[in-house]
Amino acid sequence: MGQKISPVKGTRDVLPGDTYLKKDDPWIRIGHLHLIEQAARELFPLYGYREARTPVLERTALFARGIGDATDIVAKEMYTFEDRDGTQVSMRPEGTASLVRAYVEHAVQQQEPDTKWWYAGPMFRHERQQRGRYRQFTQIGVEALGSPGPRVDAEQIEMLDRWLRALGIPFEMHVNTLGDALCRPAYRTALQEYLRAHSAELCEDCRKRTETNPIRVLDCKNPGCQEVAAGAPKMDRFLCAPCREHFEGLRAALGRLGVAHIVDPKLVRGLDYYTRTTYEAIATAGLGSQSTVAGGGRYDGLVRELGGGDVPGIGFAAGVERLALLVAQAGRELAVRPLVFFAPLGPEEEARADALALELRKAGIPAEVSFRRSNPGNQMKRADALGARFALVLGDAELKSGRAKLKELKSGAEHEVDLSDLPGALRRLQP
Ligand code: ATP
Ligand code: MG
Repeated sequence: MGQKISPVKGTRDVLPGDTYLKKDDPWIRIGHLHLIEQAARELFPLYGYREARTPVLERTALFARGIGDATDIVAKEMYTFEDRDGTQVSMRPEGTASLVRAYVEHAVQQQEPDTKWWYAGPMFRHERQQRGRYRQFTQIGVEALGSPGPRVDAEQIEMLDRWLRALGIPFEMHVNTLGDALCRPAYRTALQEYLRAHSAELCEDCRKRTETNPIRVLDCKNPGCQEVAAGAPKMDRFLCAPCREHFEGLRAALGRLGVAHIVDPKLVRGLDYYTRTTYEAIATAGLGSQSTVAGGGRYDGLVRELGGGDVPGIGFAAGVERLALLVAQAGRELAVRPLVFFAPLGPEEEARADALALELRKAGIPAEVSFRRSNPGNQMKRADALGARFALVLGDAELKSGRAKLKELKSGAEHEVDLSDLPGALRRLQP
């Protein structure tokens, strides 16, 4: 007898049905993920975003340089190893660095002035496990390259807002500005001085961050650090005129597009590459402390940092599992259920059922046949469990007459139909 092999910590299976035994961890079904993906797939192209796919494996240097050595992601969370040929590689912890690498690699800048891409796929971070935080998780994200904003910023935030609304997610949109390479250094210094003076009240991580990445302290979840952060100098006072104008332009554009938003000076985001606009969609219920469902921002220096030209960009990434937890709580999912379940009673009927099911599938109608021989009562139970709308029992009489009864499982209503045109009959029954 073989021994059961358990999954890697922080990873999870997503199955089509509800088979989970641990009730404390809400179950995500594939239908929840499909609903979220489908909504994105339909909406994003309306704004000109096209799908791009990049590899899960990248050179470690891409993230060290793109995201920044001092960030939590690169310093502590990446899955990094030496490949068999000696190359240092990492499983991607996020999507933006990869998409920008592809943008530079394929000289996209020379082919089109503006580029809008979206992506979906697994990301990997060795984080402490908790509800809504996994070591393999899925992000759906977008990047708009080429425009300095702020109108494209507002357009993108409005798109995120529309997507989350379509999914029925309860959330607030928070926005902030981080300034740029001109005005942020002065802010960083002022913040650092303030944090050094309060270092005794900070957690150990934040004492380190004070020296390496002081802005990140504002984002710490530790209550002591939050208290220190509340009294910290605000970016607002340090903004240079162009950054101030950008932020005012963003807020005006959001107003024109009708996007309700909250200005949140503590919203800083964890990655090094952000400049000016940052934003987050924060769920107002249903997620506990892991409530940020999507985060985004402008990264005007990243393309250059990764070897490309001076191309500004802005993007967001949303955590699909966190969204799925909310979609699951709201009881929404995209599921394909058989419309008709065939229950043949003998070998000849089985062959006919197989042929009828094929005919339906060719017509785009989902159908299932029973592979087990049992009495009609049990067959009905199976049809019900599959979520079929109709069941059709095929016996000797039906084969001889060429007519059968489509039984509606919910109501018990029966419709006599001609087996020679089942697709037509079904279309008439449910237009
Ligand atoms: P957090 O503060 O929650 O750690 P982050 O700033 O690290 O978030 P980003 O890197 O901006 O997150 O990723 C964007 C989104 O991806 C997050 O808002 C979240 O919804 C999701 N996400 C990030 N890390 C995880 C994870 N380990 N498990 C599940 N979802 C995640
Ligand atoms: Mg994180």
